[in-house]
This record gives sequence, C-alpha cells and structure tokens, in this order.
Amino acid sequence: MSTTTQIIHSIPVDPLTGAISVPIYQTSTFVQEAPGVNKGFDYARTNNPTRQVLENLVAELEGGSTGAAFASGLSAIDAVVKLLKTGDEIIAVDDIYGGAFRLFTQIYEKFGITVNYVDATSAENVFNAITPKTKLIWIETPTNPTLKISDIAAIAKIAKASNCWLCVDNTFASPALQKPLTLGADIVVHSATKYLGGHSDLIAGIVVTKEKELGERIKFIQNASGAILSPFDSWLVIRGIETLPLRIKQHCASAQQVADFLEQHPDVDKVYYPGLKSHINHDIALKQSKGFGGIVSFTLKNDTEEAAIQFVTATKLFKLAESLGGIKSLLCHPANMTHKSIPAEKRRAAGVADSLIRLSIGLEEAEDLIADLEQVFQQLQLKQNLFETNHTITIK
Ligand SMILES: *Cc1c(COP(=O)(O)O)cnc(C)c1O
Repeated sequence: MSTTTQIIHSIPVDPLTGAISVPIYQTSTFVQEAPGVNKGFDYARTNNPTRQVLENLVAELEGGSTGAAFASGLSAIDAVVKLLKTGDEIIAVDDIYGGAFRLFTQIYEKFGITVNYVDATSAENVFNAITPKTKLIWIETPTNPTLKISDIAAIAKIAKASNCWLCVDNTFASPALQKPLTLGADIVVHSATKYLGGHSDLIAGIVVTKEKELGERIKFIQNASGAILSPFDSWLVIRGIETLPLRIKQHCASAQQVADFLEQHPDVDKVYYPGLKSHINHDIALKQSKGFGGIVSFTLKNDTEEAAIQFVTATKLFKLAESLGGIKSLLCHPANMTHKSIPAEKRRAAGVADSLIRLSIGLEEAEDLIADLEQVFQQLQLKQNLFETNHTITIK
C-alpha cells in the first residue's frame, strides 16, 4: 500500500459517533466507574484520545512502536535527553539545530551531560568519538542550512556495536521521504511545526521509538515532565499529515526546479540541494531517501551580508521569516537570523557564508517562484550597474 493510502486510512473513524474527522477531546479528566476503572483514559496530561490518534499515526508512519506528542520540537528533544543521567556523553552532528545546541550546552551540561560535536557526514568521525560513556548519538540529516547528509544505516551500526542509542532529527526530510527507524535508528524526533503540520500555524514536537520498552520510558518522561501537545494542536497536526505525501511531492519537485535555476544563474556562487549532482552527499541522499526535500540554500557571487540583505528584502512571494515547511515560501538569511549567535569565523567555517540565503519552497507554482527570484537578481544587477556608473563618473 502506498504511504498516502496508508496515512489516510490509519486515521480512525470515531468509534462512538462515526465522525469521519477525529474529534477534539477538549477535556482535562475522564469520569471513572470505580477508582481505577476507566475507558483507557484517566487524566489528559497522561493521555488524551485526540493526541493518541496523532501519536499512533506518526509511530506507524515512521515504522516505530510508540509515538509521543509534545508542545514543541524542543520539548520533544528535551524528553530524549532526559533518558540520560549525569556522566553520560552525547555525540552530536556539528551543525545541529541551534535550539538543540542551546539546550545541550546551557541546560544539560550543568547537569553533567557532555556533548561531543563531530562532522557526521563521515561515519568514521562518529566511530572515533565513541567513548565508554557515550549513551546517545544525535544526528540531523539533511542539516540546516547547508543540507549535509549523514549515512543513517552506517551510523546505526556504530550505535548498535557501541551499545548506545541513535536518535535522528527527521524534521527536514519527514517520514514521507526518509524513515530512520527502518534504517536502524532507535529514536526519531520531529519539529512537527514544520512539514508534519505543514501550514505554519502551530508549534509541536514528536518522538517515535523503534522499541516498545524505550517508548514506555519516553511516555513516562512525557507524563512526568508534562510538556504535552494540546488536543486542538494534535488535531491540526493530524490534518496536516493527511496531505503530507502530496505536499512533500510538490515541495521536492519545485525545489529541484528552483535549485536547477539557481545553479545556472551567473550571480549565484554555490547552491546547496541534495538533489543536485554537484551536492557533496548526493549519492547517500539518493540511497536513503525517496526525495530531496523542499529546502534550497545558495550563496551569491557578491558574497557580502549587504547583498544578501538586499536580496531577502526584495522578494515578493518569498516571505522573510524563520521556520520552514509550510504552504507559503519563506526565505531567511542565516548569518543574521538563525545563526546570528555563532561567531562569524566559526559560522563561515561551518559553510554558512555571509551571503548564504535559505529558501523553504512552498506550494506556489515553481515558475512563479523562479520569476520572483529572477526579478530580485535583475534589481540587484541594476543597483550594481548604477553604482558602477556613478563610481566611474566620480573618478572622472
Ligand atoms: C525547528 C526545528 C526544531 C525545533 O522545533 P520547535 O518546534 O521550533 O521547537 C528542531 N529541529 C529542527 C531540525 C528544526 O528545524
């Protein structure tokens, strides 16, 4: 059965009323017949029927046993770190999501959990970083914003052999393209704020585990710490997931067209898109995912912050905003937005050039998006020419 059919039909019809849309159980508690005798629900932090549908849906979609929905992607990440204890070590991909980096360094290091950052595009680097204290390997693939790809199956083997868990942040790919648990990972996390929700209208996070026993530990943490997703937002994510494969198909097709356009443009220096043959990890992307996603990054020949700022403020369809994965195309300038807190030298060394621009390709027609980018290139050229003309005049 195709993923689309599977998704549409694994969302249950309400057994009580026959409602074809999942009811929103907006309740805090559930009436019991006798102490401890209930219909499977007792208190809505512990479990809620609407949230449960979402959790089962994502677990099935990722090929895992257990799903847990959280109030944000970061609280999902937080729940996974809470599996660890003082003295444990994490090996994490070096261009990890900034919020995860902040959580690890500013919250968990003070509790004695240390993190070792490596370039995970080489599984060997991960292997070399393993110590007897390593408990968790944390990768994101593709990464943000240069879309580097790590070999999930190879790193999963290292994790197994070293008796630690592999957690993959699958936000950028989504389960419509890539299923880390089927490649040997133990845990998947999502910022459901992005592609799962898909409409830029909520903040949510998901954890899925391969094994039931690990899933029970995550569920315990979810209940004990309490950062649960509300019934209404659970319902919104379910509704988003119903169209996930369809949306992702279009995001991928348009992103490829935009990447091809950028790659041949004379004012563009580098284009980062795993679907391009020129991408350093194109082969591994081809091997482990069904498509290359909706994010495209590029740098300008005029590699200055000024040029990039002019660019990101001159588009009409692409809106200037952080986040990604929604219906409307967005763009951002990482050097001044998502990666502003990283020192310039360190940021450049990680491949985030001054002029790097990240696009989140939405569901507009690709030709309209390309026309929008083209009109910006023309505006910038005009300004450049004007500047050069004025310059010549002054010299005279
Ligand atoms: C956005 C994002 C997060 C954090 O998710 P929130 O829902 O904003 O808390 C984590 N990982 C990745 C890769 C993200 O893009």
